[in-house]
Amino acid sequence: MAIRILVVEDEPAQAEMITYNLEKAGFQVMMAAGGQAALDMARLESPDVVVLDWMLPEVAGIEVCRQLRADRDLREVPIIMVTARGEEDDRVRGIDTGADDYLVKPYSPRELIVRIKALLRRASHAGVDDKLTCCDIEMDLVRHKVTRGGDPVHLGPTEFKLLRTFMERPGQVFSRARLLDLVWGRDVYVEDRTVDVHIRRLRKAINDGDRPDVIRTVRAAGYALDAEQS
Ligand code: CA
Repeated sequence: MAIRILVVEDEPAQAEMITYNLEKAGFQVMMAAGGQAALDMARLESPDVVVLDWMLPEVAGIEVCRQLRADRDLREVPIIMVTARGEEDDRVRGIDTGADDYLVKPYSPRELIVRIKALLRRASHAGVDDKLTCCDIEMDLVRHKVTRGGDPVHLGPTEFKLLRTFMERPGQVFSRARLLDLVWGRDVYVEDRTVDVHIRRLRKAINDGDRPDVIRTVRAAGYALDAEQS
């Protein structure tokens, strides 16, 4: 699966240039032109790396960085902040706020790619033992890989987050509203039935090959992961 990069940049020409070069290097690129859009997209798509321009309209880069670091699911995502020349103080504040690296504009696309690869290497070495296990399902939180009975299960980013939420608290019943909060984030407007759509996708992937359904629908309440499966 391609490495997914969220590029947060409000200047269209700059954004286009970065996207072009990152895609040429084999990355999958998502764009956000403002801070709020960046937060929404990060929560929905769980990117592997965030390239974050510091000077943004409305929600500034520093605030985006702070909120990503405060988010349970995103606090580990590598962030490269991009500042304009002369914004030395911002750079220091950015590192304080939790950015992993920084680049000063104008920078070469090659330099950006080198930094991204370095951060990815660092991220994959940290906490290698981060695994969740429940019934015959195993979830590798670092490599974003799931297996059931040893067979690989392929999940989209939202289904991965859903399953992670369930696996962190096996047996607990989650209402749709609670799942929306935990998986999509408080600030994103999503309808309740979106939860059902993604639960259906998760079930299809995880129960593939006629395996017993581990996700229990609790009438009028929500969903739970059955902790005990025969
Ligand atoms: Ca800018």
